[in-house]
Amino acid sequence: MIPPIASRFVAGESPAEALEHVEDLNDRDVNAILNLLGEHYEQRPPADDDAKAYRDLVADIGHSGVDACISVKPSQIGLDVGDEVFAENLEGIVEVADEHGVFTWIDMEDHETTDATLDAFEDLTTEYGGGVGVCIQANLKRTEDDLERLADLPGKVRLVKGAYDEPKDIAYKQKERVNEAYRDYLEYMFREFEDGVAVGSHDPEMISYAEELHDEYGTDYEVQMLMGVRDDAQYNLAAEGVEVWQYVPYGGKWFSYFYRRAMERKENMLFALRAVLGR
Ligand code: FAD
Repeated sequence: MIPPIASRFVAGESPAEALEHVEDLNDRDVNAILNLLGEHYEQRPPADDDAKAYRDLVADIGHSGVDACISVKPSQIGLDVGDEVFAENLEGIVEVADEHGVFTWIDMEDHETTDATLDAFEDLTTEYGGGVGVCIQANLKRTEDDLERLADLPGKVRLVKGAYDEPKDIAYKQKERVNEAYRDYLEYMFREFEDGVAVGSHDPEMISYAEELHDEYGTDYEVQMLMGVRDDAQYNLAAEGVEVWQYVPYGGKWFSYFYRRAMERKENMLFALRAVLGR
């Protein structure tokens, strides 16, 4: 069982606990993106095991009728073992997800994985007619070209600022420059993307800009935020009629994820400290 201190950011260790959290979210009109924690498996067994866990999860989502989809990390299901292992496991997940009417997102990891991830997305989204989405990072300079490629494909795209520390020749390093790129790409997506836009950000500025762009272009959009980060804003946006999806991590490998979340902002560190001290 995860300690209460981590339960702000992680929904539990088991799929049953995660689905319980999803039901609470759905009661507040917030949808869920379930993510089984795990990454960088260099051997088949753990990668294949997590692929199976995702196949079981999408069946559970389908049977329970909750408003939820999944988001999968490429290196969790075999990308570090080989491109073919990744492609095979991803297709197996998307096939079962599609049978159960569940949408599959593919997270984006560091720049060395971008090509393989976009190629796998292109193959599957074409085959499954859009039941798949991919994440794209505003800090990477290549994203301008990648968005042009993605604009011609079915499926959804989640725009994020980018979580990986990338080399400066291929990525914008300054916060303001990343924000500028984020705004430019968001505008492009609202103008060019027919299947809607997913705004993966907690930034109030980007969320209001998305609303402005929606008013200008009429394109559908959804806001995606992490569990435990601006939860009240998520509930308020949903109450205002915005489509909100909360990214909900769960699973036995919760510690390093929780540690990253707790350390990334001073308020979160204080929250963690207060929980440890019991105040
Ligand atoms: P920031 O630029 O970090 O902050 C901007 C403003 O947002 C802050 O000034 C504050 O007002 C508000 N804010 C931000 N964080 C907090 C907080 N903790 N508490 C209160 N206010 C806050 N990255 C990837 O590289 N690949 C992925 O696949 C990926 N998937 C993601 C999926 C989702 C649903 C989300 C939300 C993020 C994902 N990310 C991913 C992470 C992303 O790249 C950013 O690192 C992360 O979201 C921080 O950027 P930001 O836009 O939220 O805001």
